[in-house]
Amino acid sequence: MAQVLALSDRCCGCLERRSLLLYSLVLGSEINEGFQERPLSVRTGDAFRVHCDSHMNPTTLFVLHAGADAGASVQVLGSSFSASRKHPRCLVRKRQPERRGRLQRFSSPAWRQRLRRQVLQAQVELPQVRIVGAGLAGLTTAIALIEEYGWDPASVSIFEASDTVGGRVRTDRLPEGYLLDRGFQVVLEAYPEQKRLFRVTGAAYPDELKLRRFLPGATVRLPNGTWAYVGDPLRSDLGDVWTTLLAPLGTIQDKARVGWMRLQTQLRYTSNPNSILEQVNMNGNREETAEEALAALTPGLRQSFFSPFYRGIFLDELYNISSRLFRYVYHMLAVGYASLPDNGHGIGALPRFLAQRLRDEHGLTIHYGQRVTDLSTLADRAVLVLAADVASTKKLLEQASVANRFSPKAQADIRKLLCGWLAAGADGVHETLQRVSTCLYFGGEGAEPPEALITRPRSLVLAADAPSPSGMPRRPLVNNLCFPSAVARSYAPSNKYLVSCTVVETALHQQLDPKDNDLLPGGELEALVRTQLYKWYPSQRHLLDDWSFLRGYRVRGAQPRQRLNGERFVMPNEDGCLDAGRLYVCGDWCDTPTANGAIHSGYRVAGGIAKAFGVHSRSTSSR
Ligand SMILES: Cc1cc2nc3c(=O)[nH]c(=O)nc-3n(C[C@H](O)[C@H](O)[C@H](O)COP(=O)(O)OP(=O)(O)OC[C@H]3O[C@@H](n4cnc5c(N)ncnc54)[C@H](O)[C@@H]3O)c2cc1C
Repeated sequence: MAQVLALSDRCCGCLERRSLLLYSLVLGSEINEGFQERPLSVRTGDAFRVHCDSHMNPTTLFVLHAGADAGASVQVLGSSFSASRKHPRCLVRKRQPERRGRLQRFSSPAWRQRLRRQVLQAQVELPQVRIVGAGLAGLTTAIALIEEYGWDPASVSIFEASDTVGGRVRTDRLPEGYLLDRGFQVVLEAYPEQKRLFRVTGAAYPDELKLRRFLPGATVRLPNGTWAYVGDPLRSDLGDVWTTLLAPLGTIQDKARVGWMRLQTQLRYTSNPNSILEQVNMNGNREETAEEALAALTPGLRQSFFSPFYRGIFLDELYNISSRLFRYVYHMLAVGYASLPDNGHGIGALPRFLAQRLRDEHGLTIHYGQRVTDLSTLADRAVLVLAADVASTKKLLEQASVANRFSPKAQADIRKLLCGWLAAGADGVHETLQRVSTCLYFGGEGAEPPEALITRPRSLVLAADAPSPSGMPRRPLVNNLCFPSAVARSYAPSNKYLVSCTVVETALHQQLDPKDNDLLPGGELEALVRTQLYKWYPSQRHLLDDWSFLRGYRVRGAQPRQRLNGERFVMPNEDGCLDAGRLYVCGDWCDTPTANGAIHSGYRVAGGIAKAFGVHSRSTSSR
């Protein structure tokens, strides 16, 4: 027997907002008989057992939609229709005699016939959604579909090529007890979409992640062999404020300009940070670069701080980065903290938390070890979401393009996307579409890094670029160094500390063979890194010699390379739609090349799918 759930939070003055009345209208039986009324606080996805006098067996009801506007519409198994004057939405006073006439109209045969038709149609239309990839984008798509749009978890499947979730956000545990993230990465707490995904009652991030913070700013190793500390004056103690103001980096005017930039971004964009990405500044016929955005600063400050700091984040030079992407990340660092999870799972704690939420709250299991190679096996009567990295997505779309499985419009969009990629460079997808990050890990003796190496162990250590006679600054091999276990203790066993050294590929000048394995052995690169660190700490060689090399990672597809064309890469559609109701793409390559971008793209695709099937978000905050 088909069942319909109608909710109302209007017209009932005695009830708090969102304390809703639940109605069960059982089609096929007399409406008055099947009617149950009781005040309830409900959420989309809740299920109820309703005991009706007239039924021998209890009826199970599933709440399809409990948005704040629930009173204005009646949601029927995924499709909705607004209540009109002819069919009043409020049945609360059903038992009051003067309302009987109206109720009668609601339950008129024509109205019930229409309900029945919609229910049957909606049942047929409910699509399966198959997601390729369990990185942040894929996990977000699944969570948003289920939690924001009330998708049946049994209709959502995730296929993941590897043996765990997270994609690039992944951590390995060594037998000695070290946690090694696959490349140095941090949680930027202020990322808005990330906060939206992880938000729990009363806090932006769940306590169980145990986020621990880096100090804002960095300890900088200057080309003349001296050290300087640059903090954030608005979030430092008085001593560090003075140290920062007196640091031998840039001029007084530079510091005033940076202070103004810092204040301006906080005041202008805190309420709507995503608007930064919408403001495209053009320079001639191309988008302004990050380097151009910083043109007012002296080369001294740019080379000693901004270039190396943001090279470590974007894995590229400032002249290759869009100014709005730079401003966006600058804002996130100004208003929030960089942190690491300390719950014993490294950075991988984030996707792990999401996978657990899908499993424990929604019963969704992820299919591991399932590399999708042919879309046609998945696409039959299902919505397909490609949430893989850019290289895999390209391969899958090329294959789909040859197989000609989608609509002519979709085929044209796929070709447009593939042509955009080809234009980015034809000599191999890895080198042209993606940026590389290399990270070497060392273990040191003692619970804390020695003070002779670092006085503020929770700060990042940054290597300033050195001026050169040619005018092109020389980039040190090691871009940054940090002590993850000094920030989050669980990164190293109790009597050891962990050191992470990030080498940015642009500084390597092709010293590594591009076909190198992703897992680097010690050897030539380790020796090069140690040689540079000996120069940093000439009187502490013995401490560095005590460091044991743990492992090196070279992540070839660390970030998608994005073109400066005034657009977000070459997306045919904002919601990642290539074929409405059939084929969608998401991932950081569709948005900013960050965890936040991957999450945002997942939300947008979920919204696009829901829209294609006429399903409304239950959350008024979703965009
Ligand atoms: C070293 C490093 C440091 C970083 N630092 C930061 C940072 O500090 N802050 C930040 O915000 N971002 C950082 N990033 C970027 C961030 O990690 C990524 O932007 C984000 O994780 C991308 O998520 P995604 O879901 O789009 O893609 P991915 O994480 O690549 O997920 C794609 C998933 O799809 C799977 N897959 C691929 N092909 C198939 C197939 N055919 N069939 C089935 N499954 C498939 C993959 O196995 C993978 O699990 C860093 C990245 C790296 C590598």
